[in-house]
Amino acid sequence: MSKTTKQDSATEKDKLSEFEQHYFNSYDHYGIHEEMLQDTVRTLSYRNAIVQNKDFFKDKIVLDVGCGTGILSMFAAKNGAKHVIGVDMSSIIEMAQKIVDINGFSDKITLLRGKLEDVILPYDKVDIIVSEWMGYFLLYESMLDTVLYARDHYLKPDGLIFPDKCSIHIAGLEDSEYKHQKLDYWQDVYGFDYTPFVPVIMAEPIVDTVESSLINTTRTKIIEFDLNTVTLEDLSFKVPFKIQAKRQDTINGLITWFDNVFPAPKGRKPVEFSTGPYAPYTHWKQTVFYLEDDLECEKGDVLEGTLTCAPNKRNNRDLDVNIKYNFKAGGVDGEQRSVKNENQYLMH
Ligand code: SAH
Repeated sequence: MSKTTKQDSATEKDKLSEFEQHYFNSYDHYGIHEEMLQDTVRTLSYRNAIVQNKDFFKDKIVLDVGCGTGILSMFAAKNGAKHVIGVDMSSIIEMAQKIVDINGFSDKITLLRGKLEDVILPYDKVDIIVSEWMGYFLLYESMLDTVLYARDHYLKPDGLIFPDKCSIHIAGLEDSEYKHQKLDYWQDVYGFDYTPFVPVIMAEPIVDTVESSLINTTRTKIIEFDLNTVTLEDLSFKVPFKIQAKRQDTINGLITWFDNVFPAPKGRKPVEFSTGPYAPYTHWKQTVFYLEDDLECEKGDVLEGTLTCAPNKRNNRDLDVNIKYNFKAGGVDGEQRSVKNENQYLMH
């Protein structure tokens, strides 16, 4: 029986950058795994995708990238996989080993500690990669880089990735009360002007749940990644968007979310789940980018622009996001209400 201990790690943690150490430390604690496991939309989507595709998994070699507590490895092992390799850099893998052992999967699941990029797998190639790598705004944490590394080094040419299609969506929202409460606070802090904080706060996207009734524009998909073909370079992107006001209201910000789709045989509906405001709660919630301007909109007014996203240079797990917008209002006062602007954000 393999024992996954600190000594066995393929990666020496002390040699990692401070940011990387911090990142992997965050997964040492049980709390984050508890949150993920208890996210039933997330966890049951993976289970359904595996259960409904038992034929895909039968007698296959599966790689679980970032296995955490081993839940996806066990779903795969329980549903026909010949052997599963689970890899994780965090100490949580010691717990995963205990769980795998007590649930009777010691001979079916091999757990390896270290960064996926550093471990030596017992197989040259695998048939299937399963991974739950998604971060806030899909790409925060940059763990997709690791899945692409696994794909390029270990996946058979006709291999499958669970999930394999992920898309980011955007819409406008009215959130005046919360936005202004959040910003106005700094006008007068115990009698002092604290407004230098305002641009700092504006630059930070907010991860929270949003009532779908607050959405006051059409929504649009800004980008879709096919994990079978996407490259690292594609994860830095600049995409246009165009949405339209659905009622007379104020657009204070842009709300974003992502959807995920798992492979399915031709003709069968794939398992998919959304982290959007029209779908049941997930721990990813939604990500809101407040706009510097409050856009007074009439039904039919157009908000178009570009969203640019790239890993931050200093810490590539953070994301730099830039939103350029051109709000084109119609009607008699259209010109006064129209606004062009550009806002810069950092997700960290
Ligand atoms: N698969 C588990 C955990 C998902 S969280 C579940 O679904 O519940 C992502 C996990 O990936 C974390 O435990 C983290 O430590 C691990 N991870 C992230 N990047 C990694 C890398 N490069 N190498 C190994 N593990 C990694």
